[in-house]
Amino acid sequence: MKITAIETTPVFVPRLPAFGAVPRTALGPSAVSEHGIVQVHTDEGLTGLGELSSVFARRGPLLCRDVDERLAPALIGRDPLELTRALRAMETRLPDGQLAIAGVEMALWDLAGKALGVPVYTLLGGRVRDRIPLSYSVPHGEPVEMAQYALERAREGFRTVKVKTGQGMETDVEAVRQVREAVGATHRVRVDANMAMRSAKEAIRFVERIMDHDPEMLEQPMPAHDLKAMAEVRASVSIPVMADESIGHPRDAMEVIRREAADVLNVYVTESGGIQNAARIFTLAEQAGLGCMIGSMPELGIGTAAQIHLGLAMPNLDFDSDTCGSLYQSEDLLATPLRFESGFAFAPEGPGLGVELDADAFARAARRSPPP
Ligand SMILES: [Mg+2]
Repeated sequence: MKITAIETTPVFVPRLPAFGAVPRTALGPSAVSEHGIVQVHTDEGLTGLGELSSVFARRGPLLCRDVDERLAPALIGRDPLELTRALRAMETRLPDGQLAIAGVEMALWDLAGKALGVPVYTLLGGRVRDRIPLSYSVPHGEPVEMAQYALERAREGFRTVKVKTGQGMETDVEAVRQVREAVGATHRVRVDANMAMRSAKEAIRFVERIMDHDPEMLEQPMPAHDLKAMAEVRASVSIPVMADESIGHPRDAMEVIRREAADVLNVYVTESGGIQNAARIFTLAEQAGLGCMIGSMPELGIGTAAQIHLGLAMPNLDFDSDTCGSLYQSEDLLATPLRFESGFAFAPEGPGLGVELDADAFARAARRSPPP
């Protein structure tokens, strides 16, 4: 089998509002997901599907261009089943291009699964679990709104809710307090600062102030590059500290491990450069004695399916994960929606990633204009 063409399409999908407003975190507002769809065509008529996704606005069309101009020329004519060679070729052509590479790489896994007639999780060594327990994120708002939103998610079956902080110390502490009060002692309340803490001391003080509300862990208190401060926070608080924005490629995960900057790694298929690199981070974490979860951009249906396959196959998926990105979107672009029930994600049925595009929804998302 040979790759004959790689097609990219920028797509624009409105996010669902949260308490009537555009969802907002310390990274900014997110009215629309500006992602891209990758279709890798072959001489045997099989097509692999991938998704280009980023939390940041304006990236989808740029990622499509990276694939068109840099990655596609390196892959045309190659055997898509030689995944590792394809990955190395892409990393050579586009160093630091993990987001673009991931969209193509997951399409190659989809192709391999379709060609061999097995799901991607089988190619990854087989399932070690039948479903993935989920966490749901609570964006910025009034603490009372955030608590109500968390309660609704708990009632839907989510066992973990993630409070997004960065609205100022007093509001953040109050949000954690009210969310805990709303969901009760049976649920986990995770806290994600998205790098918004100004100093390690501020992060440590924040944790001291929320300890009465039994936080599960603190995610990425400090800026991505500041592993020294991350390590300082980790050494000073009694709850686990998770690294998210500090980790992209496996080499970043290695640096976090070396610098003892986190207890838990938030692993992304997209930011690491694909399923294969994400699986490598899981292995690094396992050997370092660190826990892992899978994070989201949030992805639409194809990207979320890729995360689910990974999560079903990784033995050390220790924490409830964000592999439900499509639930934050107004549509997932899939012909058959992914299966989420009572706070769990289930494997899509069928070979490869087990998903197909809904032609109408895809065309609609491709026709939409980018937001002003
Ligand atoms: Mg995060």
